[in-house]
Amino acid sequence: MTANLLDFDLEGLAAFCEKLGEKRFRAVQLFRWIHQKGASGFDEMTDLARSLREKLPSVCAITGLPVLSRQDSADGTIKWLFDVGDGNAVETVFIPEDDRGTLCISSQAGCAVGCRFCSTGHQGFSRNLTTGEILAQLWHAERFLRKHLGKTERVITNVVMMGMGEPLQNYGALIPALRVMLDDHGYGLSRRRVTVSTSGVVPMIDRLAQDCPVALAVSLHAPNDALRDVLVPLNRKYPIAELLDACLRYLPAAPRDFITFEYCMLDGVNDQPEHARQLLALLKGHGGRGVPCKINLIPFNPFPDSGLKCSPRSVVLHFGKILNDGGIVTTVRKTRGDDIDAACGQLAGDVLDRTNAASRLSQRRQQTEQPIRFVHTAKEKQA
Ligand code: SF4
Repeated sequence: MTANLLDFDLEGLAAFCEKLGEKRFRAVQLFRWIHQKGASGFDEMTDLARSLREKLPSVCAITGLPVLSRQDSADGTIKWLFDVGDGNAVETVFIPEDDRGTLCISSQAGCAVGCRFCSTGHQGFSRNLTTGEILAQLWHAERFLRKHLGKTERVITNVVMMGMGEPLQNYGALIPALRVMLDDHGYGLSRRRVTVSTSGVVPMIDRLAQDCPVALAVSLHAPNDALRDVLVPLNRKYPIAELLDACLRYLPAAPRDFITFEYCMLDGVNDQPEHARQLLALLKGHGGRGVPCKINLIPFNPFPDSGLKCSPRSVVLHFGKILNDGGIVTTVRKTRGDDIDAACGQLAGDVLDRTNAASRLSQRRQQTEQPIRFVHTAKEKQA
């Protein structure tokens, strides 16, 4: 079978070249052509020996993902839908800002975690992406953007593994992909500029600290286990205290001296002042000394059948003020690309679900009614 060179980190490519009787420096040359210069064929690799250039097409290829569609937002955000075969498609989003260009990458076709507020979670799960499919999103986007913007230098400065999927449930493919992003012969991104976002796969957070520590973002979304059990079902397996312990263990290896906690603001569900005070007490007090952190409040981006609403802006700001006043730096995420459904939590390619997500969803919606009613009752009492 023809190997896809996007599947290899530098060590993997060196091993592949060795089998062909080629020295390591040839692997470095190939790697730089693919990831630094965006080459898609061997003919353009002019510094490779002609004999090698002629040999390579019979044993390997540089195979990107077919693009099903591209959408450009009025605010400059770009979303691609990539075909990953068998009726599955995944989404990738580029978010330009004045001082950076961030690419949000998918790690799975669908997601098995099934968070209550997430469009991908509602679609169920089909399969893990390969290393090559994860990297193909970056490889394609960088090539496209350089051409589109007429640039020769790198356009993508930051990568966030926050697209479709739980990256730490696809660990084996994730780690080589991260290594290519960080490799000076690859994309050369600093560890601080590559972020893995997780819903809290505790054992894999520990492994990430050992294998490839990059910036860590944790999808928290609730200040107590009762509510988080409903919003992020993985919490039943790894409750908040275990998750925060893992965060504390991660910090010594992390490139930043804090963990980012993501908190999606859901109207009447997790957005009350009492929730903010609980969150403050939890994060300031855990383990006796608290967890060094920042909090990112994400206004919920509604999608069909979610049954949830975004908290009013005034509620989001008040929630953030309680946290900031309490000593935790808290920001509100700017919504980008909402005219093309590219905002956080809205990514939903096409997923051939293998997980019976629809019936799990309806069960979970019934469970979610409880906290929603509870909070509304409390609000009514205050009124
Ligand atoms: S928020 Fe992340 S972990 Fe949760 S369902 Fe969506 S993609 Fe999966």
